[in-house]
Amino acid sequence: MTDQTKELIDKLQVKPGVKVKLKDGDARGERLFRDEPETRAETAALAEEINALQDRLYAERQRALLVILQGMDTSGKDGTVRDVFNATGSIGVFVHAFGRPSEMELAHDYLWRVHAVCPRRGTIGIFNRSHYEDVLVPKVHKLLSKSDIGKRYDQINDFERMLTENGTVVLKFMLHISRAEQAQRLQERLDDPRKRWKFNPGDLEDRKLWDEFEDAYETMLEKCSTTVAPWYVIPADRKWVRNGAIARIVKATLEEMDPQYPKPAWKPTDFSVV
Ligand code: AMP
Ligand code: MG
Repeated sequence: MTDQTKELIDKLQVKPGVKVKLKDGDARGERLFRDEPETRAETAALAEEINALQDRLYAERQRALLVILQGMDTSGKDGTVRDVFNATGSIGVFVHAFGRPSEMELAHDYLWRVHAVCPRRGTIGIFNRSHYEDVLVPKVHKLLSKSDIGKRYDQINDFERMLTENGTVVLKFMLHISRAEQAQRLQERLDDPRKRWKFNPGDLEDRKLWDEFEDAYETMLEKCSTTVAPWYVIPADRKWVRNGAIARIVKATLEEMDPQYPKPAWKPTDFSVV
């Protein structure tokens, strides 16, 4: 891992049990990168390296990588998938977007639908939203008691520890945008005919609850950043900063996993292709 990446991780990783204050000013990520063109070029190169590492992961078929993306509406969860995993062969990458639970899903415990779509060995799974909605939404809308939500933080930590002990590395990115940036992005969805399909009037209702969501995110970061599955708070007001930071962390993580091509039990010279 390069010193630059170590420094980046140190700045963005949430230390277990530490209370994070999400300040609008930090969403720009000043001083994380030198300049925009250089970072864009680095991100494109990293996307290629992620692809090469993913090929090894797929061939090895022993472990998996789970990338969790959380963030307010318009924080760039879809954009991250597009920009960071755009060079990665689609055979070994699965994206799952979690919406409101169906009747069937509600008939089970909240982790049931999540566990069912966790990545199989050899693959990268990307969650656009996740089981963290099951602590955020009930807290903001006061759907569960404090003690029941408290239990869920512990259950989530146990669940993620279980995944990591069974060969899945878990990376969690909270895409941090400011309230002003969200206003701009929502307005764009209204103004730009190509973005209008993404506009959901319900997002304006959630926007009114900005402070409550921010508070719920801060608690989630404090309770569920663990040594085995830490949270990263990614400044996401500028897309190139967001992409640069996530690409570096994903690449460093795969590099650390160091997947190996399996060694066949035969020698290539045992065969001749006729
Ligand atoms: P979007 O990601 O913008 O398409 O919206 C998905 C919506 O589903 C968001 O409003 C989420 O808060 C909501 N959602 C996702 N998972 C859950 C959950 N477990 N409980 C309640 N709402 C959820
Ligand atoms: Mg939405």
